[in-house]
Order: sequence, then structure tokens, then C-alpha cells
Amino acid sequence: MQALALDERDVSFLRPIGYQAEDCGYCKDAPSGRRTKQSRACYYALSKKLTVDDYQELVDRGWRRSGTTLYKPDVRRHCCPHYTIRLPASSFKATRDQRQAVNRWNKYVLGEDYIKEAAKKYPKTKEEKARQKNGFDLLSTIHEAESTVIKSPPEPAHKFEVTLEPDSFSKEKYLLFKNYQINVHHEKPSEVTEKGFKRFLCDSPLQRTTRRLLEGSEEQPLGSYHQCYRLDGRLIAMGVLDLLPHCVSGVYFVYHSDFEQWSFGKLSALREAALALEAGYKYYYMGYYIHDCVKMRYKGHYKPQHVLDPETYEWVPLDGEFASLLDQKSYVSLAQKKGLKKETPEAEAEKLDEDADPFPLPLPADAAAAVAAGTSLFDLKVPGLMTEEEIAETVDLDKISLQVQRRIIPMGVCTPSSSTASPLAQKKELIRVVVS
Ligand SMILES: [Zn+2]
Repeated sequence: MQALALDERDVSFLRPIGYQAEDCGYCKDAPSGRRTKQSRACYYALSKKLTVDDYQELVDRGWRRSGTTLYKPDVRRHCCPHYTIRLPASSFKATRDQRQAVNRWNKYVLGEDYIKEAAKKYPKTKEEKARQKNGFDLLSTIHEAESTVIKSPPEPAHKFEVTLEPDSFSKEKYLLFKNYQINVHHEKPSEVTEKGFKRFLCDSPLQRTTRRLLEGSEEQPLGSYHQCYRLDGRLIAMGVLDLLPHCVSGVYFVYHSDFEQWSFGKLSALREAALALEAGYKYYYMGYYIHDCVKMRYKGHYKPQHVLDPETYEWVPLDGEFASLLDQKSYVSLAQKKGLKKETPEAEAEKLDEDADPFPLPLPADAAAAVAAGTSLFDLKVPGLMTEEEIAETVDLDKISLQVQRRIIPMGVCTPSSSTASPLAQKKELIRVVVS
């Protein structure tokens, strides 16, 4: 039996919590009336230690994290299904009002006097003029008013800085969060606590590390970070970001109510997309897209968005067919629909028939009760979940270990109760025990 050191750097630890039905915060104001006390189902796990590579894989299979809790919504049993989306940073085209938000903010930071004087003192180079003529340049515009890049004298109206810092707790960050929760989310002051803030936005299982994309290039940070916006030394906004091998993943964003008029939602989205582009992360993940939730639809306004097919984990454009299908029904798997077209008429008829009532226990509360009573998740047909056969055949169980108290045991050496069964059946039984 191979012993593994607990602090081994490239090892991730997951503690399964299980499948449960629960209340949904997203559609509470929706007119559909679909929300009940248990209108969505989710699978949960806890992690104190997770490599950025493992988390990237989880995110690309529909998972997200909140603090150290990892969760995967059962999109089939959900009042407002959550779809993972991503924006390829290099093809991002900002809309007119997104561009205006950045230009307006830059103008406020620099001030009219600075803009006039600086234009005389530092005439634009040919390249700068050409760039301006070609339209909006995301990277130069996003950094235009930052104190580290502006030319002085003259002095701008305000000193604006944006820094990437470890996701550690500070009183300043907490007070900003508290202001945001009370003013934007209308929480009661007594509901916002330091402990809650730490757990939600300063507690990450991700292992912080760095890498170089090219020899001699700058080190690229990976892990959980706070992107802090400071105006004249005061923390006015903060993005909580997971920097992963191929994306900048936005976890949360807060801004002070004094700056409500500046469209900080747009400013932060553009800045995070710019970080993905300039630092080589490639994609910007804005969190789940919820088509039925008016408050979440804005994410679709950052284009082009790709959506993760919940069954095949392929990325398909959010526009067009996928979006129009979402207008008709809340659960959509485009890849599954396309697959139907290729099959024989008999199989198609059978599948269409299944489509009418394809899943056992469609209600989240019933499904969760069945799991609590011993039904396996495999029998629920949760979208995107591998079958036991697929896991037994494709996953090397020797590379996955179970931690029982302080002992680490490779799963491959575990023997389930029915030791007379075939090796494949034994593997499947073990997988059922671990998952349930
Ligand atoms: Zn909902």
C-alpha cells in the first residue's frame, strides 16, 4: 500500500457531503411561481485542499465553489437550471454601453483639467492615434486612468489603482463587503458578519502557485485572489477571482454604494476579461448563466458566450439555437438534441418518447428523499454524471485514495463486501459506496 503525505502539493482532498433538495434564492422574485421550499437539487462536497488543475476540471464539468464548499446543481431537477458559461477573451467585443462605462469612469478619475493639459503636453503617437481610430481597445482603455500608467505632471483628479492580492481577510475588505450586502442585496446589518465574509470570500481550498507560459515570460499567478480597486487610497471595490490554468473565474464582486452611479458591474466584467486576455488565461468565466433569472441575464450581454452542454460537456454558442431552446424549456442539452438527428427513426422515436418523461423522480424533493433512503445517484440519471461502467472502465482507481481517519488507502486495494463478485462488479460496488 502506497503511503501519501498529507501535504503533498499536487493532491486534492474532497469530502462528499451528498445530494440534497433545497430552497432557491435565484427565482424567489420570478413570476413563474415554480419556487417551493425544495425546488432545486444539488450535489455537495467539501474541500480544504484542491489543486488549480483539479478545480479547472470540476468547473468544466459544471461545478463551482462557495468558500470551501463545492457544488454541482442537478440541472434536470432545478427550478432555474444553472449553465456554466465562458467568454473567449480574445474574441470579446464590448458593446457601446460597456465601452461608455469604462470611458466615463476614466474621465472621472483623470478629470477634465488633466485630460486637456495632458493632451497638449503629451501628444498622441502615431500608433496611439491609429489604435483609437480602429475603435475600442480593451487593454489600453481599461488601464488608461491607472496611476501606474498615466503620465504626470499634470496630476489627475484622483489616484486610481487596481492590484491583485492574496484572498486574505482584512477589516477594510469586510467593511466594503458589509456595505455592499446591505445596500445592494438589502441584507439586515445583523445578517452580515466577519465570520460569514471570511467563510464565503477569504476561505478557498485552491492551492496558490505560479507558472510561466513561455520561457522568460512573467510568472502567472494561479489560485484565489482579491482584485482590489483603490481610489485615493480607499478600497472602493473588490473582485474575488479564481485564477485557473485556462481561465479567470469570477467568484463575486462588491463595490461601495458611494460609487453606485459608475456601473461597477460592467467595469469589473471588462477588467476581468482584460486580465484573462493580457495575462494569458484565455477564457473569462462569469459564473452560472440562469436564463430564467432576469438579474442573471446580463451575463449573456458579454459576447461571445459559450455554454457548457450539461450532458456531453461540449462548449456550444449561447446565442442562436441554445438560447431559443431555453426560451421554450428550462432544461436544454443541445448535444443530446443533435445526437438524436443522427440516429435511426426507431431509436429517435424511443428517445423522443423518453423525452416526454425521461427521468425517474423529476421533483427535487422526491429525488433527495430517495437518495436519503438509499437510492444510488447513478439511478437518478443526474445529467453529466458518468455511469458506473464509465467510471470503472476509464478511471484509474489506484490514483484515487480514500482517507479514513488519518490513513490514506488507494481505492484500488479496497475490497467491497461481495468479494466473490467479478473485479468490474467489485469496482462498481465500491464506486456506489463512495458516491452515496
Ligand atoms: Zn430557482
